[in-house]
Amino acid sequence: MTDFARSSRGLTRRPLLGLALLAPVAARAGEDLPALLAPGARVETLYAEGEWCEGPVWVPSLNSLVFSDVRRDRMIRIPDGGRPEMFRASSSNANGNTLDRQGRIVTCEHRTGRVVRQEADGSLTVLAERFEGRRLNSPNDAVVARDGAVWFTDPTFGIVSPDEGEPRPSEQTGSFVYRLGPDGSLAAVATDFREPNGLAFSPDERVLYVSEAGSALDRSVPREIRAFDVSDGRLTNGRVFARMDSGVPDGLRVDTEGRVYAGAGEGVRVWAADGAFLGRIPTEGPCANVAFGGPDGRRLYICAGPRVLAVETRMRGAGLNGRGSP
Ligand code: MG
Repeated sequence: MTDFARSSRGLTRRPLLGLALLAPVAARAGEDLPALLAPGARVETLYAEGEWCEGPVWVPSLNSLVFSDVRRDRMIRIPDGGRPEMFRASSSNANGNTLDRQGRIVTCEHRTGRVVRQEADGSLTVLAERFEGRRLNSPNDAVVARDGAVWFTDPTFGIVSPDEGEPRPSEQTGSFVYRLGPDGSLAAVATDFREPNGLAFSPDERVLYVSEAGSALDRSVPREIRAFDVSDGRLTNGRVFARMDSGVPDGLRVDTEGRVYAGAGEGVRVWAADGAFLGRIPTEGPCANVAFGGPDGRRLYICAGPRVLAVETRMRGAGLNGRGSP
């Protein structure tokens, strides 16, 4: 057990809030992560009252982290240095969140099978809910490209897991990766995943990384992150970027130097852009997702089961979803 795991055990019954617990970052021998972390960095527990925390996104206009508590059907906001507060009390079992070019929050909803955008008045605009006339499964995670296109994954977790949505038969022929173009056209851009999950662009948006999370339902599915070349809104040259022998790869982020961060198994795993494994930030229990944020964009937020953690790094996130300001 790591120092961090020891210190955070037993937190789930604490009535929270705003209480920040600090623990040293534990890195295993041979792992190189301390070079990426701020001097003296410590993992801080910001929230421990969730059930399955997901979809972290830093929202500059709110000076806050916003995230989903999927199974409790709500979204929570944590202002920088402040206490957690309710953000969306009924979220349709929302999962992944990201920002668009205007800084608006784009959210994947499991129960409704929709991708929605929150407007300035708080209302939700539906961006996508059907493909070829049939309902989507349960959109999981999204990222917005510089051209405004919304790329998202549509696995079945929200329609096969009663505690994460609403069970119903899939109306699609598979679990696809989609691109919603700026003109509103919806295209399936990858159709050979079992259950695609997290996704993130390289800093130049020439590469898209996508997690294969099918092993959560079928242990024979490879636990891998794939990379694709992106050109004219299409994906080519699909290949395995990283493969792991345990844990389910889930949410992804990329820093400005191209490193790939994944919520995968019991921790955040980090790879260099060339695929070399750099190391891990351990968590107690499964880690679903990560996001860069904070006022300077160098804080890494980590969703791990009931908890949301944070650690200061030397890095900044790439793209609209990663930096401190849109
Ligand atoms: Mg996910």
